[in-house]
Amino acid sequence: MSKMTRRKFLSVSLAGAAAGTFTLSGKAIGAAGFTGYPDGMGVLVDLTRCIGCRTCEAACNEEQKLPAPAVPFDDHSVFDELHHGGTQKRRTDENAFTVVNRYEAGKEGQPAYRKIQCNHCNEPACLTSCFVNAYTKTKEGAVIYNSKVCVGCRNCMVACPFRIPAYSYSSAFNPVIRKCIFCYDTRLKFGRPPACVEACPQEVLTFGHRKNLIKVAYERIRVNPGRYVGHLYGENEVGGTSWMYLSGVPFEEVGFDTTLQKEPILANAQAFLSNVPMVLSIWPALFLGFHRLATRGGEGAEEKPATEKREDI
Ligand code: SF4
Ligand code: SF4
Ligand code: SF4
Repeated sequence: MSKMTRRKFLSVSLAGAAAGTFTLSGKAIGAAGFTGYPDGMGVLVDLTRCIGCRTCEAACNEEQKLPAPAVPFDDHSVFDELHHGGTQKRRTDENAFTVVNRYEAGKEGQPAYRKIQCNHCNEPACLTSCFVNAYTKTKEGAVIYNSKVCVGCRNCMVACPFRIPAYSYSSAFNPVIRKCIFCYDTRLKFGRPPACVEACPQEVLTFGHRKNLIKVAYERIRVNPGRYVGHLYGENEVGGTSWMYLSGVPFEEVGFDTTLQKEPILANAQAFLSNVPMVLSIWPALFLGFHRLATRGGEGAEEKPATEKREDI
């Protein structure tokens, strides 16, 4: 564990605790042998085409019926914002499921832009860390969330290697986790591309079957050797993600974590489990018990979203 950061240690520990608590559940058994859906959809994000127009942010805001932003979408002063003591660029939150950031890393003095949203991991750490099964990875590739079963433990926020799930702290009575859902309810499950993809004027975002997008990405690298660094981010990181990235500059220069392992977070957690202290293994169960007591048995869980077979597009 010499190179493990505190955050990664916590991520692994929480995923391990969830796995330990649910060793006999169908979910844990399924997650352990799950390697993603071979025919799932994805999005290829070509950062070399992005001009930082924020049209994708506006489209997401409208599609997901999010509140109007504090700074209008045509105001690019947001790129100068720094948070957490001046150390962090903008992140997604409960009212912004996608944000675009600017980096002074582009070629020939040009800025580079990077769009952030949930990457819809093949084997999502948010899902495996959630001990009440609030998350579902659909056949189509989306990782979606059911607020009706969430107990607000925020394991998923710690477990996510991309720091995506956001907690709606502003809602005093019913706080929930909020994040990009790949436009599942309104578009993906009907075979339609996400709103942000459709709105982008630069064709930065390409929607399609994940396995085909990998071929498209490597073909772009082959045909334009000077344009891209020779790596498809998300093809293998943490077990692969549905959203994958091409970049013209080293990924670490535009805010990507290039230290992530290839294996899914759960694989790490299983190896780690024997070292997890007992209190960590049982605390999710305790948490669940307290929640059930507080809610007198809890609300009826919403039926899991349909993952029915869809026609190829
Ligand atoms: S990016 Fe984070 S929130 Fe999205 S699927 Fe992966 S682990 Fe879950
Ligand atoms: S896929 Fe949908 S929810 Fe996700 S960032 Fe794009 S528009 Fe928003
Ligand atoms: S709409 Fe396209 S070009 Fe504009 S910021 Fe978003 S990804 Fe970049």
